[in-house]
Amino acid sequence: MDAPAETGPASTAGRRWLVAALAIASIGTAGALLGARLIASNEAQQSLARFRLASHQVAADAQLGIDQENALLIATAAFFKQEPHASTARFDGWLTDVQAFRRYPEILGVGLIDLVPHRQLASWLRRHPVSGGMTQGIVPAGNRPYYCLTSAGAYSVPLPNVDACALSPMVHEAIAAGTTQEAPFSFGTGLEFFAASAPVYRGVGMPATVAERRRAFLGWAAMLINPQELLQRAIANHPGLRVVIRGNGVTFAAGRAPRGANRITIALSSALGSVTVLGGVFDGSVLGYSNSLAVLIGGTALSLMLAVLLLSLATGRARAMRLVAQKTGELSFLALHDALTNLPNRALVLDRLEHALARAARSQRPLAVLYVDIDGFKAINDTLGHAAGDEVLRVVAARLTGALRDEDTVGRIGGDEFVALLESSDLLATPELVAERVLEVLRQPIELGSGKRAHVSASIGIAVGQADTGEELLHNADLALYAAKDAGKNRCVVFEDAMQIEAADRYALESDLQEALARDELFLVYQPTFDLRDGTVSGVEALIRWRHPTRGTLGPGAFIPLAEESGQIIEIGQWVLSEACDQAAGWLARGFEAGISVNVSARQLELASFVDDVAGALADTGLPAERLTLEITETLLMRDPDDAAGQLLGLKALGVRIAIDDFGTGYSSLAYLRQFPVDALKIDRSFISGISASSEAAALMHTLVQLGKTLGLETLGEGIEEQSQLDRLRREDCDYGQGFLLARPLPAGAVEEFLIRESTPSPRFL
Ligand code: C2E
Ligand code: MG
Ligand code: MG
Repeated sequence: MDAPAETGPASTAGRRWLVAALAIASIGTAGALLGARLIASNEAQQSLARFRLASHQVAADAQLGIDQENALLIATAAFFKQEPHASTARFDGWLTDVQAFRRYPEILGVGLIDLVPHRQLASWLRRHPVSGGMTQGIVPAGNRPYYCLTSAGAYSVPLPNVDACALSPMVHEAIAAGTTQEAPFSFGTGLEFFAASAPVYRGVGMPATVAERRRAFLGWAAMLINPQELLQRAIANHPGLRVVIRGNGVTFAAGRAPRGANRITIALSSALGSVTVLGGVFDGSVLGYSNSLAVLIGGTALSLMLAVLLLSLATGRARAMRLVAQKTGELSFLALHDALTNLPNRALVLDRLEHALARAARSQRPLAVLYVDIDGFKAINDTLGHAAGDEVLRVVAARLTGALRDEDTVGRIGGDEFVALLESSDLLATPELVAERVLEVLRQPIELGSGKRAHVSASIGIAVGQADTGEELLHNADLALYAAKDAGKNRCVVFEDAMQIEAADRYALESDLQEALARDELFLVYQPTFDLRDGTVSGVEALIRWRHPTRGTLGPGAFIPLAEESGQIIEIGQWVLSEACDQAAGWLARGFEAGISVNVSARQLELASFVDDVAGALADTGLPAERLTLEITETLLMRDPDDAAGQLLGLKALGVRIAIDDFGTGYSSLAYLRQFPVDALKIDRSFISGISASSEAAALMHTLVQLGKTLGLETLGEGIEEQSQLDRLRREDCDYGQGFLLARPLPAGAVEEFLIRESTPSPRFL
């Protein structure tokens, strides 16, 4: 079966869907990127705001620490104002009371600083041994006019006695100004700190003048702070921030910030100046934020999924379309091909024929149509079964295809009817040769699946392309086929114009026949049969005639085959049966005992109701069943012997007699003859007419008569035209005879007269 190919438009549609899917994917991704950027920039702004807030909190915390240390410094100043000579131990006790080191871990040390002139240094050092965690030595070393040294103090880490004057030459001004001093210091040893000092004056409050302040000056309350600790505390709750304080060439910093971090500088109300906070990289990049990243990834994924979905829907649709196309292809294949053989059917054959005709007209190349029909296919079906029939048809199809060339079309256009279209440049001489070859291959026995063999032959009608339409050419081939069948089958016949006329004639006759019964144009003639022993009339055979309005009186040969083809024979046969029975019943009533014979056609015998029809005719006319003989041709019986035997038994049960007509022509076997409930054999005319001329025919006739006697059947010789034939039949001991020599078929009205005249045997029997 030709698979319908994928079509161009389908793949174009596929590309269109792909473009749409790509568009969705890119638009979706672009949208996701845009959204992510919006979110990122929003996020950047928010996070900048958060950073600013955090920075201010850090600065505020740092400021708070500084303020608290200032407060401790002032409290320390107040302590030494009260107890200017307090020992280190005493001061330590106070510090413990106010929980200074616990509450302010950034404080490295706190105490009272004396202003020591160089000349008093030695005695001062003697009076103030190293204590309170202070290490030996004055830092920086060296001789100076004044030293600012811790007289009482406590330290959280071991520290040398740092000379505050050396570090801050402004101390003298500080004494005079009475202000608090704050300054970052570095020892250059990695130890950096921040010092704050406040002058301590004797008496209540701050002396009013510079001179009074110099007089009342006791020392400085001083404090050393590790700003790093302070800063560490300030950023404790702000991970990702770095805070930096710079001053006097010293840098205090805490925390870590990423590279490229934002920075903000906030002023402090302290000598530390300002604090700089670093943190967060607020570049607004899409990848820097989880939300924007999520939107980017999610949006892209979603649009990709949509694209894939669209594609899969589209391909699903495309697949559905393909399926529809395929199924449509299959359907159209089925519509144009025969399911049994896969050959083109009538519609496709006609279509190809039209195209071939058009080509033939253009190229002046002849075209031939072979109309092939299997002879007696019905018998194959009936005797071997339909499955075998189908098998035969398939083999025939294959053999036909094999016998022809690839470019020729072979089709099956009916039950057992095939057509071959032959196109060729040198065809004119060959269609008959091709047909002969086809007949030859078809004659080869067919091995069936059941193990049986089927023998078939075929008839072929040939029409060579000189028709206007394919239908007409095919019809011509059909007419030629009809002629081939008529001429005895198993042959090919080329179409001639005369066949057209014959066909038209047949057609006209067929339509006339439709009216014949109604117009009372049919009538019966009766041919007597004779008892060959004594020459008496044994019965009459009813033979049909048609008084045609224009063609004169027609014999059954002219219209019975037509009636059989068209089915009219059923109605006609029914009429013959009742007409004949009616006549015979009338004769019987008038004292004439002759029985009547009626010919039965195949279509009648096939009728399931036939036995009833016969019974009805007998009942209607009152004719005793044994007076009626039904004549059934031998070929008819042999077509379907089993079915026929069944019908015959039914008829026999009615009491009617049965004769096998045209006996000797149907190749019936002895086995079958025994099976049929038959009363008489009517030996075919062909055997009678030949007996005087050929000894072979005489021998055959002898055999047939003997066969009848063996089977216990009556025998009747048909078509006795000559005295020698009559004599021969009588010598052979044939029971009955019929023929023009003895009596021609008579009109109904002449029968009684004939019977009266023939009551004395004719001299032919003497
Ligand atoms: P059949 O049944 O064998 O009838 C005998 C045929 O031989 C008749 O031809 C008859 O006229 C013809 N005939 C009789 N004696 C001679 C003779 O000596 N020489 C020659 N040459 N012919 C002779 P008919 O009437 O033309 O019938 C032909 C056939 O048509 C019959 O053959 C029968 O088979 C069929 N037929 C006739 N009437 C009917 C009918 O009513 N129904 C059916 N189904 N078939 C019928
Ligand atoms: Mg007959
Ligand atoms: Mg006959």
